[in-house]
Amino acid sequence: MRSPIPDYLAEALSSVESDESGAMADYIPELAAANPDRLAVALCTEDGRLYSQGDADVAFSIQSISKPFVYALALADSGFDEVMAKVSVEPSGDAFNEISFEDGTGRPLNPMINAGAITAHTLAGPRDATPTERTSRIIDGLSAFAGRHLSVDEGVYESEISTAYRNRALANMLRANDIIDGEPLDAVVGYTRQCALLVTVEDLALMAATLANRGVNPLTGAPVVSALVVRQVLSVMATCGMYDGAGHWMTNVGIPAKSGVAGGLIGALPGQAGIATFSPRLDEHGNSVRGVDLFRRFTSEMGMHLMEVPPPGPSVVRGRELVGTGDQAVQILSLQGRIRFAGAERVLRDLENDPLTQKRVAISLERVATVGPVARRMLLEAVRRLTLDGHDVYLIDPDGALPDPDPGDGGRVTVVSERLGITE
Ligand code: GLN
Repeated sequence: MRSPIPDYLAEALSSVESDESGAMADYIPELAAANPDRLAVALCTEDGRLYSQGDADVAFSIQSISKPFVYALALADSGFDEVMAKVSVEPSGDAFNEISFEDGTGRPLNPMINAGAITAHTLAGPRDATPTERTSRIIDGLSAFAGRHLSVDEGVYESEISTAYRNRALANMLRANDIIDGEPLDAVVGYTRQCALLVTVEDLALMAATLANRGVNPLTGAPVVSALVVRQVLSVMATCGMYDGAGHWMTNVGIPAKSGVAGGLIGALPGQAGIATFSPRLDEHGNSVRGVDLFRRFTSEMGMHLMEVPPPGPSVVRGRELVGTGDQAVQILSLQGRIRFAGAERVLRDLENDPLTQKRVAISLERVATVGPVARRMLLEAVRRLTLDGHDVYLIDPDGALPDPDPGDGGRVTVVSERLGITE
């Protein structure tokens, strides 16, 4: 069978194709000269399958879509405390190039507006890195997210740096506020080079998929940043990624996203996929008109809104059964599905409301897909309490859903890989 996904993506592109509203970014002369009709989409699943349609091989400058990735590198290289001391995480409600700083601290409000992104640029790489070393670290880091070496479009870089008066003003203010060290112009040069990196929608989809996949590039397998860094970055994307359009974006589309003035737009759907679109005409917030439309469509048709959860599945507690007789009788509590806090709570409640009656008891994980870290602690505590209540506790865990179970103080558990192990 041929997968319907490419057909679906092609159809989505044709549904927005005729919309010529919006305007090209013209404050960077080179961008104003780009072909406004380009249109492309790519989707990369969290296990690395890439689909794309339209002008998927056309390269364009990454612009502000570099910001979440450089923020990730800054967090990884300088640590959360150092980065938080210099850039906050509050949505500003301002345009991307607004000259606004937090009262009192002089910090930029978030790393998605230019002031915050220029600051984040200076926090990537080792503290004593030269401007050139820092830019190389950033290019290598963004390349790791993309899974291939990215290079700078020198034309776009020259075009932007020659007119970057506003960003220079921001960097000078940051230096005056003691937020960045060193020569402010170096920060603007490095930041402008980072914005001029050439990408295709496929690169962007893979970069977004790396965020969706807890920081591991799903195609190369390379761990790029930690899951904790990803959590921080996605949260900031969700609240600030679309600038002064962020609230409407989050309510209507509902996934962490980031736009760039060259017309790129990415969304990362945690645990599922990264999506990228390219269409250069922009709305009044500087976000791609047809890109935003495509994402709206994807949200409703692919059920992507983060605040929308599937209806409850079957209960985590599958049922109970008694096997064997007499002294050999074992009461088995079977669990199923993906167990997180709420599922584990259901198990604890079941054990409290309807206590197991046999001396020998087993918890079967044969049909369990995953046990989250909190659920793991809760289930092990259940095992400990069952032991203290006088039960001999077994865990039937053929697939290692709960590896190395240690129920702690006074708890004891025997792990078997099949039921026969306890009944014979
Ligand atoms: N390089 C651009 C700038 O600093 C990036 C802006 C954007 O993509 N929103 O103005």
